Amino acid sequence: MSSASPAILWFREDLRLTDNPALNAAVNSGRPLICVYLRETGAGAPREMGGASRWWLNKSLASLGASLEAIGGKLTLRTGPAEKIIPALVEETGAAAVFWNRRYGLPERETDAAIKKTLKDNGVECQSFNGRLLMEPWDLKTGSGGWYKVFTPFWRALQAQYKPPAFIPSPKKIAGASAETENLKDWGLHPEKPDWSGGIAAAWEPGEVGAQKRLDAFLDGPVSDYVGTRNLPGVSTGTSRLSPHLRFGEIGPAQIWRAVRARLEAQQADEDSARVFLSEIAWREFSYTLLYYNPALATENYNSNFNQMAWRKDDSGFAAWSRGQTGYPIVDAGMRELWHTGWMHNRVRMIVASFLTKHLLLPWQQGEQWFWDTLVDADPAANPASWQWTAGSGADAAPYFRVFNPISQGQKFDEDGAYVRHWCPELAGLPDKYLHAPFEADAQTLKRARVMLGTDYPEPIIDHPVGRQRALDAYKAMKEEQ
Ligand code: FAD
Repeated sequence: MSSASPAILWFREDLRLTDNPALNAAVNSGRPLICVYLRETGAGAPREMGGASRWWLNKSLASLGASLEAIGGKLTLRTGPAEKIIPALVEETGAAAVFWNRRYGLPERETDAAIKKTLKDNGVECQSFNGRLLMEPWDLKTGSGGWYKVFTPFWRALQAQYKPPAFIPSPKKIAGASAETENLKDWGLHPEKPDWSGGIAAAWEPGEVGAQKRLDAFLDGPVSDYVGTRNLPGVSTGTSRLSPHLRFGEIGPAQIWRAVRARLEAQQADEDSARVFLSEIAWREFSYTLLYYNPALATENYNSNFNQMAWRKDDSGFAAWSRGQTGYPIVDAGMRELWHTGWMHNRVRMIVASFLTKHLLLPWQQGEQWFWDTLVDADPAANPASWQWTAGSGADAAPYFRVFNPISQGQKFDEDGAYVRHWCPELAGLPDKYLHAPFEADAQTLKRARVMLGTDYPEPIIDHPVGRQRALDAYKAMKEEQ
């Protein structure tokens, strides 16, 4: 084979140059490189991204394109079914090899396998790598050879078995080969009429540089307080906010793992906090295992007992929830944070998801889809796995049906009200005592705080004890059906 025929590096959920094993192999092949990203269509495409993710993708691709150009490369963009586009691109450019990092959803896996076969049948080299997970789902097995269905033993096994591969620096220079490209602007990823992305743009810096800055800033201090602050939505540095960067592969979990271990070894981080932080990275891994072995995770109950659950239909309840108008401040603050920034704190995600699936008794799929559309970190594994976990239908070792109390959760995790006052400013004047339950305040207190319930801020759309009991009754009825 002549080293003059190019290689194709297909970027997918790994929009970075650093620590990218497929890119590294492509560069090491010594061939001129065609770097391509596909806007995939057809049955074998990944789940279509929601609006907030498309906004992020647009910026991330622009950033990747600029980084490639700085080292002599170029990002080629194409649209269509990958099974057609990749072989056609090989033919068009005379490429002799194709490289990519693997993905774990079923349609994508089937697509990739079909392409690999076509390429190999035509004598084109095709290599794939792990650029997205610490350990791939088939690598972490139980003693009997099955997969872990419970997080704690999964996490224990991961810690025992994971050996981070050597760090791969970004290539300094690549021999970029040229291919015709579509224009990113023509993809219409940025919202127009209306452009709702102002709040999101103010909160984030998509791209590899932004990801590394986030990691460094987090490891330079906040990681050591993680145990104490990770449940406090009012503390902006309480968690890393790396999720959208991980989602788009602007940083990989191995980079995070190595960086945290290095801080620990240098005694620059608190041991307990750093370990809990890594265990959250492991929840992401666990979600990918669940997706891999349960391809319909986003649509079907993991626990099929829930097929008998008598979910309600309630358009006005759903509208109130999605707009942050339920009358429960912690729920409303979370839904407004999501709408404005494309992100929501994990504790509040659990509270709002519980409210939707328990108090309103609406199917978790409805909330999952809303999150899918509005989160910048909307992840094909973590989002459905977390929704199912909160709804009760997921992989959860807890033998009871949890119904979060939105009042006491608010009082416990937003004790000084900083979070609710920020996102529900109409309640800012209320004393802390009533901030999470304005409907319990007497008329004078409300008047002093300039809050007129039903006008400035809604009355609760359902009473907590009523919603709780209805959820427990529905759960009981479901169990009796089994
Ligand atoms: P950190 O606390 O700093 O954690 C570091 C990283 O670990 C995160 O960036 C994320 O990649 C991973 N992680 C943390 N918690 C979890 C978890 N419970 N499950 C899986 N991975 C986790 N996370 C997503 O990345 N995408 C989603 O679409 C998503 N949807 C969710 C929906 C619901 C209903 C719930 C309850 C949780 C969801 N999560 C999702 C998990 C979690 O809320 C976010 O990962 C976290 O809030 C991201 O903030 P962070 O980066 O500051 O997290």
